[in-house]
Amino acid sequence: MPYAEFQRELDERAALGLLRQRKVLKSPQAPHIVIGKTPYLAFCSNDYLGLANHPQLIAALQQGAAQYGVGAGAAHLVSGHGIAHHQLENALATFAKKPAALLFSTGYMANLGAVQALVGKGDTVFADKLNHASLNDAMLLSRATVKRYRHGDMTQLAQLLEQAGSGRKLIVTDAVFSMDGDLAPLPELLALCEQHDAWLLVDDAHGFGVLGEQGRGSLAHFGITAQRIIYMATLGKAAGVFGAFVAAERVVIGTLINHARSYVYTTATPPALSSVVLESLKLIVQGDALREHLRKLIGQLRDGLAGLPWKLMPSDTAIQPLLIGDNHAALALSEALRERGIWVAAIRPPTVPQGTARLRITLSAAHSTDDVARLIEALHELAQ
Ligand SMILES: *Cc1c(COP(=O)(O)O)cnc(C)c1O
Repeated sequence: MPYAEFQRELDERAALGLLRQRKVLKSPQAPHIVIGKTPYLAFCSNDYLGLANHPQLIAALQQGAAQYGVGAGAAHLVSGHGIAHHQLENALATFAKKPAALLFSTGYMANLGAVQALVGKGDTVFADKLNHASLNDAMLLSRATVKRYRHGDMTQLAQLLEQAGSGRKLIVTDAVFSMDGDLAPLPELLALCEQHDAWLLVDDAHGFGVLGEQGRGSLAHFGITAQRIIYMATLGKAAGVFGAFVAAERVVIGTLINHARSYVYTTATPPALSSVVLESLKLIVQGDALREHLRKLIGQLRDGLAGLPWKLMPSDTAIQPLLIGDNHAALALSEALRERGIWVAAIRPPTVPQGTARLRITLSAAHSTDDVARLIEALHELAQ
């Protein structure tokens, strides 16, 4: 067999409880999903506002396809940049309170492109150790010097900034950490940036649409704004659709248009998707009731799980990880919930550090209080 080595590697992963396999969903993304022939109550999507299957957005996609067709057919810099993309970029800039915005196909590509375009050899990128994989990969791709600081450790970051060379300095951080649910100390990070003349790239994949006034995200949540902040958010999570954008000063966006390779050398997303996101933005702005309901569910879950042998990690967001520790134990608990018709993903290394395997419970405004009560009850039964 020409691939025996790969097979051995996969077998080793399986033995460690680390083999990843996909589940085939037969229903739309929603709290109640169907996998195979079995219905499940699910707590693992990032569809925080329940917009992924919203009738108004389905209609917008149908209308967008009728108006613009299916594919963009070319990269943005060739002939793929449509009026729908353009309108959406303007709306996103206004929403994020920045002068300009640029659409990317995915958040992964936005991070790769932004970091690679802004820094290079001789520059330094500073990164929280728990940042998303796309930011980590982006730093490597940029060829800048990489300095990673302990999660949330501003003292260590300050020391690293003191010691940095003379090149450009860029701090990159998740705003809401994707596997922990806690917030980065953005005001402190901004203060350090001002002190050291560094830029701050904020990845708001999990804050956009959910945090801050009208869901305007983490910057609005903290009430901060600055030219040196480069704001990135994704459109496949709370917005319920697909894609991502960077919002920043015009000169930054101009630089990305010219130098971000994951922007230049790829086909534009279908313009109809931009029509949908435009509609989704309206729902986000009007979504106070959804966000209020989500906050209520977060409180219900935290109160309900307080007495368990496993602890919820400290988090006020829709990401509520239940720390298990051992990989096999996390898998077994996830499996036992599944037998009860409840789907919660077990997150294991290398996605999270060794010994911190967890059930990553995510809540959505589409969940009911009964849904959350069912999860609480099942976990209490399994704890016995
Ligand atoms: C999901 C996520 C991304 C990637 O976004 P996609 O649009 O899914 O590629 C980037 N950063 C963080 C923090 C994320 O959680």
